Amino acid sequence: MRPDIIRKSTDGFRVAPNLLDYQDERRSFSWDLIRAELGVAADGPLNIARLALDRHADGPRAGRTAFRFLPASGEPRSMSFAELARATDRFANVLRALGVAKGDRLYVLAGRVPELYVAVLGALKNGTVVSPLFSAFGPEPIATRIRIGECKVLVTTAELYERKVAAIRDQLPSLQHVLLVGVTEGELPPGTFDLARLMADASDTFAAADTGPEDPALLHFTSGTTGTPKGAIHVHEAALMHFATGRYALDLHPNDIFWCTADPGWVTGMSYGILAPLLHGVTSVVDEADFDAERWYRILQDQLVSVWYTAPTAIRMLMKSGPELRGGYRFPQLRFLASVGEPLNPEAVWWGQEVLGLPIHDNWWQTETGGIMIANLPALDIKPGSMGKPLPGVEALIASRRDDGRVDEVQQNDVVGELALRGRWPSLFRGYLGQEERYRKCFAGELYLTGDLARCDGDGYFWFIGRGDDVIKSAGHLIGPFEVESVLLEHPAVAEAGVIGKPDEMVGEMVKAFVSLKPGFESGEALRRELLGHARKRLGAAVAPKEIAFLPTLPRTRSGKIMRRLLKARELGLPEGDISTLEGGS
Ligand code: ATP
Ligand code: MG
Repeated sequence: MRPDIIRKSTDGFRVAPNLLDYQDERRSFSWDLIRAELGVAADGPLNIARLALDRHADGPRAGRTAFRFLPASGEPRSMSFAELARATDRFANVLRALGVAKGDRLYVLAGRVPELYVAVLGALKNGTVVSPLFSAFGPEPIATRIRIGECKVLVTTAELYERKVAAIRDQLPSLQHVLLVGVTEGELPPGTFDLARLMADASDTFAAADTGPEDPALLHFTSGTTGTPKGAIHVHEAALMHFATGRYALDLHPNDIFWCTADPGWVTGMSYGILAPLLHGVTSVVDEADFDAERWYRILQDQLVSVWYTAPTAIRMLMKSGPELRGGYRFPQLRFLASVGEPLNPEAVWWGQEVLGLPIHDNWWQTETGGIMIANLPALDIKPGSMGKPLPGVEALIASRRDDGRVDEVQQNDVVGELALRGRWPSLFRGYLGQEERYRKCFAGELYLTGDLARCDGDGYFWFIGRGDDVIKSAGHLIGPFEVESVLLEHPAVAEAGVIGKPDEMVGEMVKAFVSLKPGFESGEALRRELLGHARKRLGAAVAPKEIAFLPTLPRTRSGKIMRRLLKARELGLPEGDISTLEGGS
């Protein structure tokens, strides 16, 4: 058996972590100190893109690479802070010339191409609210989100426009301007602009828009794991959180090469794929291609990545690809690994340690929180399976809702309840677009209630139990799917596991598991029995699954989360609900 803890020792760090003394840093932390560092006054002007870019473009880091884009094939293209600052000024001027104002909404629908990054940051400079769409969305999810957010400007590629938007354009009355990337000579569809032309004609100096800390900056749709995606609104002041968490949870240092693998279509790809590294003046690698295990190992090696932020689904795919593939690569620069989006099974934390030579640091947050809240911090011991501890500036607790709607703080250790966060922080969402009532329901006094269930142990580490909707009530026990899935993943045959509660007359809900297998393993009665036995031995009969079904792959959101609600709906023959974010759907 592996130990329950991975100890950190000061002499084990190649670079001293930014946060060495957890208690001390929590005590001395204040948002005013962060403001002072970034040179902003509490109620003075604040623009997230100016902080992220112009601060460096006007200083000693002007010539440093901000982004290194890796196309699917061909040579990497680099853009320095100074180049990016000028290009984004140009884009802001393009918007101004079109009459796009502060507060208007601009959506981006493109792969991870340079133009997307320029459009996002340029729009923010203009005070225009940005909403990223995932480029694999089909026409329906695109139309729904454009309607919810009354999108005025869309930046997309000529190819995606033809394939997904042209046919529905007349159903989108708010959409006034479409700016296309990659237009071929003489072929501009009606009602669109060639972005390259507009950029060529625009000036590369832009007078700052007068945004303040509370002005809306970003509109992020949630992953849709539990239902219809919600549009969460974030303000310019969120930059403070991106900066602070980049320092504490991702341990960004000035000379790092950072790779956040999340697509900017999701909040992680925006907050940490774009904003946090820029705020720190750090170089980011952007891979334009889709996941491929060998390619990813090669990027880690050839791009000299030092800090890597990825997700459990990607880690599980690397684990599935086997150790032989990894064998040919070397990563002497790599010094810090982190993961977000789903619970990180202990097996995956250990895989990092054993196969990459570094443990993976799980951290927890949501679209609504706008930034990392709870993390396994670089200098703290890791308890594999735990999300870690709240960051400086964040107060997390376990709450329980009474029947009359009142909310109490749970004082005892290891009692399961709803994960809550106290107070207000800069990147906390300021609303669900068009759903005021739903937004209000997330708060009780000074608490924000996350909808996730967790417990806190005696050392202050938080443990994820499950999403409120996914937790299984069986014969009086509360069973978190994560615990059961983690045990199934310990078995060498299992690549992925998803666990649901299936209505049962005797016990209320019985635990059913769906698993997909690693290459070289055959599904069948013998393996089913072996897995049931393994789970019973590790979890006990009350918690272990009673049924196991084999699937070629599990249904996942495009951001990589297992959709347990879909496993359940399919199992019970119920309607599938909103599947706009389902991977492989459209
Ligand atoms: P929706 O709200 O539309 O159902 P979603 O909650 O998956 O979708 P996101 O905001 O992208 O949308 O995801 C946040 C959620 O992901 C968290 O509330 C939590 O359930 C889960 N999550 C994120 N990170 C972790 C983690 N490290 N451990 C466990 N769960 C995590
Ligand atoms: Mg959610």
